[in-house]
Amino acid sequence: MIRFEDVHKSYGSHEVLKGIDAEVAKGQVVCLIGPSGSGKSTLLRCVNGLETYQRGRITIDGALVDAEGPAIHGLRTRVSMVFQRFNLFPHRTALENVMEGPIHVLREPASEVRARAEALLARVGLADKFHAYPGALSGGQQQRVAIARSLAMRPDAILFDEPTSALDPEMVGEVLQVMRSLADEDMTMLVVTHEIQFAREVADAVLFLDGGRIVEQGPAAEVLRNPRHERTQDFLRRVT
Ligand code: ADP
Ligand code: MG
Repeated sequence: MIRFEDVHKSYGSHEVLKGIDAEVAKGQVVCLIGPSGSGKSTLLRCVNGLETYQRGRITIDGALVDAEGPAIHGLRTRVSMVFQRFNLFPHRTALENVMEGPIHVLREPASEVRARAEALLARVGLADKFHAYPGALSGGQQQRVAIARSLAMRPDAILFDEPTSALDPEMVGEVLQVMRSLADEDMTMLVVTHEIQFAREVADAVLFLDGGRIVEQGPAAEVLRNPRHERTQDFLRRVT
């Protein structure tokens, strides 16, 4: 579904991704872990064309991701992104936030979109918050609205960039629970996270990124339980 082939990315003379080879198969959950500054966010941003890359290829279902090409808008509707800071529109209600993309980007009729948006909010446990503004919601609730907003686009895959890192600890579980339910329904997900327990339980594969290179990748059980590389071992000791 998502394939990286020798992807290189630099900001000026600073090479941030130094030849990434990896793939996320349809229906898989792949967790991307690694220290701060290793290039995790950059890699996700390259997938949906928020950043350009200089060498190599990223493909989504065989279609080349070219941030400067005309097809990028279509691709971006198929792969949505959930950010650490929810990025909801503050002056729109939860329901309006979820309806925004399907109406304005996909140009679907409002009545259909409303029914879908309500069902999605109910699904993430917010049936009683349709008309709440983001400022009146907790961080965990806002992030669940953001996930519903992503789902409203009916994406083929969702990218999560540290979706629980900005949350108070008591709210982490409710967001992970929603992500777990998506995984159970075979949503294709690429998840940057420091929640190693979540990765252990939910991920099909884990990528460990360090200094712009994938130092280790494989089945979650292998990488997380018996990491072969010292840097992976060090990292896991620090975060668990
Ligand atoms: P991570 O998400 O793993 O913490 P990032 O992908 O955010 O890492 O950053 C990787 C490296 O790229 C860091 O050294 C960071 O300073 C640099 N970087 C990220 N975004 C930019 C940018 N817009 N301009 C220049 N350097 C950047
Ligand atoms: Mg990051």
